[in-house]
Amino acid sequence: AEFLAPRLRRVRPSPTAVISDQVRALSAAGTDVINLGEGELDFDTPAHIKQAGIDAIVQGDTKYTAVAGTTALKQAIMAKFKRENRISYRPDEVIAGSGAKQLIFNALLATVSSGDQVIIPAPYWVSYPDMVALSEGEPRIVHCLESDGWKLQPEVLAAAITPKTRWVILNSPNNPTGAVYSVAELHALAAVLLEHPQVLVMADDIYEQICFVPGIFATLAEVEPRLKERILTVNGVSKGYSMTGWRLGYAGGPAWLISAMQILQSQSTSNPSSISQAATVAALEQGNEFIAEWIDILTHRRALIMNCVNAIDGLSAEAPPGAFYVFANCQGMSGKTTPSGDILKTDEDFAAYLLQSGHVATLQGSAFGAPGYLRIAYAIDDNRLQEACERITRACRALR
Ligand code: PLP
Repeated sequence: AEFLAPRLRRVRPSPTAVISDQVRALSAAGTDVINLGEGELDFDTPAHIKQAGIDAIVQGDTKYTAVAGTTALKQAIMAKFKRENRISYRPDEVIAGSGAKQLIFNALLATVSSGDQVIIPAPYWVSYPDMVALSEGEPRIVHCLESDGWKLQPEVLAAAITPKTRWVILNSPNNPTGAVYSVAELHALAAVLLEHPQVLVMADDIYEQICFVPGIFATLAEVEPRLKERILTVNGVSKGYSMTGWRLGYAGGPAWLISAMQILQSQSTSNPSSISQAATVAALEQGNEFIAEWIDILTHRRALIMNCVNAIDGLSAEAPPGAFYVFANCQGMSGKTTPSGDILKTDEDFAAYLLQSGHVATLQGSAFGAPGYLRIAYAIDDNRLQEACERITRACRALR
């Protein structure tokens, strides 16, 4: 430990990775654990996209490319933004990276320094606060309420902004709540942001394709073009194309920021995999008709888990309009006693009980900055999900 740099003290290991380790340990000991902790669709990457990756290998597209992505990929990204979001970016305003995660990290590292504040609405994706801390900035967590549909309210945003605010991070559809901001809600936030020219906005749209209400998705740069020069619109193929392992994300934003991100990338990881880039061109250009079928399947699974949650005394949730998580209120579990005589106090106790007794892995809301809740990722096989629901129900019935 004496060899570790002080900056490492600013970060904690990702809570998702901690759960995955526990699941692996239980599984290795012979326990059949159902994992509802993973932020990943179980669908296979569509065949035509896989084929484009295979073709790239066969054709020898296996060398370094331009750091920010091939010309073909940049064109595909620009066309995607134009077609699906009605945002025009020039080639020097887009970049591809090894996952949206890398792009978000590089954008923060390039712009945040000691004393700068980054507004992060909670519940938040677990990595944002740690990325800000690694950049030596100060995460400024603002709490959103279940009764507001988990959405940041304009007056709350206005009250959180200071002269030191460098960024606001917006994530819609949201991980972990599944909340999706409407055009009107984005307008209201934009009105606040227009007053504060020192603030950049990260629009993390990685779950764009996973919406259960047709047409509800919107992104800030489209809704308020006057803010476009201050917005980094982040997206990728991980969630919408079931390509998490390909590690390919992309972003559009002002040229000065994209250029800074490109410099960081050029001195660290260079271009994202040439093979993944070729596959992503196919993904973005060849249409995503398959998504309608995926949404149907996910709608069915969401109904399964919603019925389960709302039938259990002490658990409740509203059906989330996006992403593939249910963020259930588990405050009613606090104070209950397990069959072995332990008293559940926190959401963490409850998640640990479900794992140890029910053999179902979930994640406690406190990992996302919202104690008293439980994130259930339901993008798994229908039969396994059904089984998980039965296990959760049984485990909860055993509480006194
Ligand atoms: N943003 C959010 C809100 C996420 O949930 C995730 C993945 O879990 C990412 C970004 C990162 O996605 P990628 O696989 O493109 O790095």
